[in-house]
Amino acid sequence: MATAVLTLAAALARAPIPVADTIIARGRIYTGNSQQPWAEAVAIRAGKIIAVGDESAVFKLRYAGTEVIEAGGHLILPGFVDCHIHFLDGSLSLGRVNLEGAKDASDIQQRLRDYVAKHPGKDWILGRGWNYAMFGPEALPHKKYLDEVFPDRPVFLEGYDGHTYWANSKALALAGITNETPDPANGAIVRDPKTHEATGALKESAQELVARVVPRPSRNEKLAALRAGIKWANEHGLTRVHSAGGDFEQLDLYDQLRREGQQTLRFYIAYFLNPPNLRPQDLDTIESARKKYRDDWIDTNAVKMMVDGVVESHTAAMLEPYSDDPSTKGKLFWDPAKYTAAVAELDKRGLQLFTHAIGDYGVRTALDAYQRAEEVNQTRDRRPRIEHIETITATDIPRFGQLGVIASMQPLHSYPDADTLEVWARNAGPDRASRAWAWKSISNDGGHLAFGSDWPVVTLNPWEGVQTAVTRQTAEGKPDAGFVPEQRLTVEETVRGYTLGAAYAGRREKTEGSIEPGKLADLIIVSQNIFEIDAQRLAETKVLTTIVGGRVVYQAPAK
Ligand SMILES: [Zn+2]
Repeated sequence: MATAVLTLAAALARAPIPVADTIIARGRIYTGNSQQPWAEAVAIRAGKIIAVGDESAVFKLRYAGTEVIEAGGHLILPGFVDCHIHFLDGSLSLGRVNLEGAKDASDIQQRLRDYVAKHPGKDWILGRGWNYAMFGPEALPHKKYLDEVFPDRPVFLEGYDGHTYWANSKALALAGITNETPDPANGAIVRDPKTHEATGALKESAQELVARVVPRPSRNEKLAALRAGIKWANEHGLTRVHSAGGDFEQLDLYDQLRREGQQTLRFYIAYFLNPPNLRPQDLDTIESARKKYRDDWIDTNAVKMMVDGVVESHTAAMLEPYSDDPSTKGKLFWDPAKYTAAVAELDKRGLQLFTHAIGDYGVRTALDAYQRAEEVNQTRDRRPRIEHIETITATDIPRFGQLGVIASMQPLHSYPDADTLEVWARNAGPDRASRAWAWKSISNDGGHLAFGSDWPVVTLNPWEGVQTAVTRQTAEGKPDAGFVPEQRLTVEETVRGYTLGAAYAGRREKTEGSIEPGKLADLIIVSQNIFEIDAQRLAETKVLTTIVGGRVVYQAPAK
């Protein structure tokens, strides 16, 4: 194997004492490196990969103290990256009510009763994960379902997408929301059309009216949640996450975990910039953070912005009216001129941009601003990103490749359950739905894909996302032909979106994303060969071992 010999020769030349701390062998290694896609063994030294090749070559780096990890014939992959996550929120959600997968309002009530049986008292009941389809054709929650069970204990439940919240009467009262309370900018208090009374559904920024009266978790509660979240991520094969909001404010907590040797997950954390303007104090905060946090473990060289909302609640910005409600096209959260100016200024400083854009007008606005920034600043290869891209006009698809804009998408968001097929697709209408989550088209036209979860919007388990990207079907195999099946990806293309594509999307493909000499030793051993099994079984993949920086950070219990 000529490549292995060359790889070894290179390792020998570089390392004065060519010995490995760790060798991983007896597995099938999918490297992600197109020059050498498969290998038998990997040698690691000081947290980095020093050789990849056949066993006889790699074992020449073995000495008395080398630890040999036997993979038992299992598949070894580069560590997975989640390119869009809200890590503290997700970590906190692990200890709260989980409504994911509930069938209807009475199922939700039952789950709340079960939770309360274990958490009695008068404290706030917090949770998340309901979806619009659980409430039938109305597609919005109502306080009455909560008031029946909790007449005097406050309940505040986040929708699965984080864009709409659900409060009971007690929570609305504590927040001081009355018939006269005005809607905040970029938000709506949903009201009964006859009585004008708040129904308990709070769209976008209206949720802040309640959120501000919910007691905040203490520093120690947050640290405990983060430790649990990091463990949870490692168990599912994640070695790095890209935070898209809610974590920049917690940088000192991440720093504390690092100092205490508990950071076993790498973090790329974006500053969250709110409209209406980029202010001098935003720049000060961004600049001082990136001086302090700019290494392989905590990096803050990114800024997240949101130009619109979501399709389900008609807050995503569309070029044409919504199909189910022709009176609205949604609207941009930013004035386009101010957004474009902010993008240009941040790009000039070398910051990477993440823009949340879901409606086709939102996506176009972001592409236009990125194109403008490159022209004005004469910059190249900045790799600005658009997050989500649930709808797109056909003429904008090739612009990702042309402009070098990264398509950061979340496969599980396209999961074709009732919420997607009955609410999302109804609102978007058939024409826009024919280009729903169009990752294959974007990729065919030269765009780079990066995948993530948006946890806690959906589970951070990437294997469910892998299956959805490949099948575009539910776990039960519905719809039979797949949801917009021409957008299906191969397993290899999907894995790339979570590994080398993800590293590229974080400007780290030179040091991460594939199993190659010189890169960080972030890799995983998994329970089944995902390249050979039936696509409907991809989500069953279990992680056996997770290695970050050459250290085993998760080991599945022996059977
Ligand atoms: Zn998000």
